Amino acid sequence: MVALRDVDVPVLPLDRFRPLVGEERYADLQATARLTREAVRGRTVWTLNSTAAGGGVAEMLRVLVGYGLGTGLHVRWQAISGDEPFYAITKRIHNRIHGSPGDEGGLGPAEANHYRSVSEENATAFLGEARPGDVAILHDPQTAGMSRPLAEAGVHVVWRCHIGADLSNRWTEEAWRFLLPELRAAQAFVFSRQAYVPAELSTARVSVIPPSIDPFSPKNYDMSSEAVAAVLQAIGVLGGPPDVPATFARFDGTQGTVARRATIIGEDHGLDPSQPLVVQVSRWDRLKDMAGVMAGFAEGVAERSDAHLVLVGPAVDGVADDPEGAEVLAECASAWHRLRRQQRRAISLVTLPMDDVDENAAMVNALQRQATVIVQKSLFEGFGLTVSEGMWKAKPVVASAVGGIVDQIAAGTGVLLDDPTDLEQFADVLVDLLRRPEDAIGIGDRARRHVIHHFLGDRHLLQLARLIGELLD
Ligand code: UDP
Repeated sequence: MVALRDVDVPVLPLDRFRPLVGEERYADLQATARLTREAVRGRTVWTLNSTAAGGGVAEMLRVLVGYGLGTGLHVRWQAISGDEPFYAITKRIHNRIHGSPGDEGGLGPAEANHYRSVSEENATAFLGEARPGDVAILHDPQTAGMSRPLAEAGVHVVWRCHIGADLSNRWTEEAWRFLLPELRAAQAFVFSRQAYVPAELSTARVSVIPPSIDPFSPKNYDMSSEAVAAVLQAIGVLGGPPDVPATFARFDGTQGTVARRATIIGEDHGLDPSQPLVVQVSRWDRLKDMAGVMAGFAEGVAERSDAHLVLVGPAVDGVADDPEGAEVLAECASAWHRLRRQQRRAISLVTLPMDDVDENAAMVNALQRQATVIVQKSLFEGFGLTVSEGMWKAKPVVASAVGGIVDQIAAGTGVLLDDPTDLEQFADVLVDLLRRPEDAIGIGDRARRHVIHHFLGDRHLLQLARLIGELLD
């Protein structure tokens, strides 16, 4: 018998949104929270996914569940379990929904049988605690197979899909052929973008709810410039000893101190704080094109500006489930070694320790805040949270016009690159922004306002609450 793991999350107070979003919007949030509490009365709202930590979905659930509890709802989060073949199948589905094969395995009757038997076991374990009338929000392909047994037991099932591709091909079609029969019993669906909704669900109850960022989390809370400098000195990106302790605010409200250093490949250890920085923060994934950012900057920016490029990603050592990360970082490192000295001096590769997620988030926060320009030159992107993270920090973001990035950058709030492989255009855009700081500041200010309007957690909660209200109506 499989066991579900309860994931505990601190309660987050809703009223901290009030000064940020204004009275009217806050009143709307409160009114919706009240209606949802009435609709939900006595029931539990469950959220189920495959992991308690690691990855964007878990990070987002931590925030949504925290605020859900803050509205007074009875919310519980459980992580399902499965065996290796089960996760091989769900990873294959994941890759194929993104349009690539992933591996050579199939998605035939044998895989469907195994997927169903693990899903049934998780559903049985879940139904030991849930009651008819409860609401279960199932996330991503790993939990889709629980829809039917849960619905048969009288649970309201919502399936939320965090992935998708702009265009369909044989792989996306194969993945959806596998998943859609598993989802027949779901009452409602949530996708991050309209373009990701498969045609077969066009008559279903579908809500498009884009992801959001939490303005108060360690990744995004407003850090003073002294605190930013102290964190960046403590990790070794800026030179000199910190003037103040390198402290940061943890997710649970307590204070942490940066204890670990970044690993840096660069000529200068410890940059000057006054030097303009161009920053891309990504996993070491080929589709994020860190190598392309480096090549474009080396050829077209390094000798035309005094800016420094910092490519930032998570540490790859010990990440056994991401062999590609180490490979991509090694490729970037050898490309860096092949640059001319002058170019090398303008570029650093920074990997951040992942041992403590809040500490890692504070490092990312400080790097994004120190940036003059933020880049996200992905070749493919699901949503691209780093774009909203940069915009929230009032930075001009230069990013590829792919996937969800297009939904985030509106006219005048950043720069979209039509062709992310055009390195000359990329370099020209950067040089132009670096030479016109007034324009860059204007773009950054509009970007922050745009994110406050569209991509903060209160909007996200409101959309989810409305969906739950409609479902129970
Ligand atoms: N990120 C991080 N530490 C790192 C590198 C990335 O916390 O060393 C975060 C980044 O700030 C963002 C998330 O990982 O919140 C990546 O999400 P995004 O949607 O940009 O891309 P994904 O990795 O989901 O493809």
